[in-house]
Formats: sequence, structure tokens, C-alpha cells
Amino acid sequence: VMELKSVQKTFDGQLEVLRDISISVEKGEVVAIIGPSGSGKSTLLRCATLLTQMDSGELSYLGEKAAWNDENGKSVYARDLKKIRGYFGLVFQNFNLFPHYSVLKNLMDAPISVGGRNKAEVEREARELLQKMGLADKAGAYPCQLSGGQQQRVAIARALAMNPEILFFDEPTSALDPELTGEILKVIRQLAEEKMTMVIVTHEMAFARDVADRVIFMDGGVIVEQGNPKEVIGNPREERTRQFLSRFA
Ligand code: ATP
Ligand code: MG
Repeated sequence: VMELKSVQKTFDGQLEVLRDISISVEKGEVVAIIGPSGSGKSTLLRCATLLTQMDSGELSYLGEKAAWNDENGKSVYARDLKKIRGYFGLVFQNFNLFPHYSVLKNLMDAPISVGGRNKAEVEREARELLQKMGLADKAGAYPCQLSGGQQQRVAIARALAMNPEILFFDEPTSALDPELTGEILKVIRQLAEEKMTMVIVTHEMAFARDVADRVIFMDGGVIVEQGNPKEVIGNPREERTRQFLSRFA
């Protein structure tokens, strides 16, 4: 579904945040990305979702090229990225809902304004999604009237309303209390059972081990180790991975 090849990203001409990272995600796969603060996880997701430009590297969705390298090895982006943007959804740590829109309008806005879809049909799907997220009674509420967990479920529903091929999550529970974390992890677990393709940056190790098909451990802008979650988290090969995981024991 998504392929990133040899991504390099430097900030301010010196801080090398991503050094030659390649990731490809298959349809139906759930990939968890773990690693210490500052290792480049968010930057990687931002490169994959076109929020940050890569210095060098290739990006494609469903075999369609979004970015490739020119003869000098610098990334060049496709002129029209509208179709590519429709392939993915992104859920942040801080929900990022539109505060002045109702919950229902938060879900309906992009499918209508970006997707150009029929309003009645979009509303029906949006209400179904809210039902699925256990938020049917909150359609008319505003984000500030919801708990953090409810806001995050709205953010997930809003991403799903665009029918993405793949969903990216950047620490979806790290702004939440432990009780609310559980309800978000449950929703993501349910999406995994429905075979939604997902890439999740998380510090929830037990969750990554149970739900992911593959775990990637990043440190210092490189992939140190990746593979089966039971192995990477339960019995890592690399000393750096062991050290990182020992903080969660
Ligand atoms: P965390 O677990 O704390 O979220 P992370 O793995 O997501 O960390 P990134 O946010 O990708 O890490 O940041 C990697 C490095 O890049 C950090 O040193 C950060 O300070 C730096 N960085 C990120 N964004 C920018 C930016 N826009 N300008 C300059 N430096 C940046
Ligand atoms: Mg981050």
C-alpha cells in the first residue's frame, strides 16, 4: 500500500533526523513503530503523509509515485498530490479537531469539500462511523464538550470518513489518562481485526506486541531492528533495543 525508500531528512542543514530509512507496508498489515524520544518517528510519519518534505528518498502509494529522486539524489514531488492524499489518513496525539465545528461536521467536512461527495450520503456514513465509535449521541456536540478519549475517537472517525487505504497514528494515546487510553486502544484493535492497514507510533508496548504484525524499533534516525512483535519486544536481538525496552519493564 505504501512504500518509502531511502528517506533522508536533515533539519537546519545539520541535524540528521532520518538517515536512509526504508519501509513498505502491505495491505492489511499493522505496523508499530517504537523508539526513544527524538529518534525521528514523527518526522518519518510526517514524510510519509506529505507534511514534511524529504531531502532525499522515494514515496509511493499503491504503486503511484508521490516522490522520487532526481539525478542529484534530491527528492522531487509529483505536481498533483491530491489523489495521493486521498489514500491515507492521519491521527495525531492532540486530536486536532476543528473546535468550531460540531462532531458531525468534523466528520463531514473533508468528504464534501475535498472528496466532492454527496452530502446526504456522507452524513449517513458519518453517523454510521459515530455509531461504531460509540459516539452516536455526540453528533451535535462540540469538541470542547467531549473527553479526551471521545475527541480522539472523533479524530479516528474523521480519518475513516475519507475511506483511506492506510491510517497513520502518531502516539494516539499519549495525551490521555490511562482509563481513556484503553478505549482508544480498543478501537484500534477493532480496526486491526477488520484488516485496516495501519502504521502506529506508540509507547504502549503490550499493545504493540498483541496487535501489530510487525514492530519497527527506531533510534537515531535509523531502523535498528524490525520483525515479529513477540521477538522484537519479547526477545530483541540488538542491545539498543534491549536498553530501550528495559525502561518499560
Ligand atoms: P517523540 O517520541 O518525542 O515524539 P520522535 O521520535 O517523534 O520523538 P521527532 O519529532 O521525529 O522525534 O524529532 C526528531 C528530531 O528532529 C528531534 O531532535 C527534533 O528536535 C527534530 N525536529 C523535529 N521537527 C523539527 C523541525 N521542524 N525543525 C527542527 N528540528 C526538528
Ligand atoms: Mg513524535
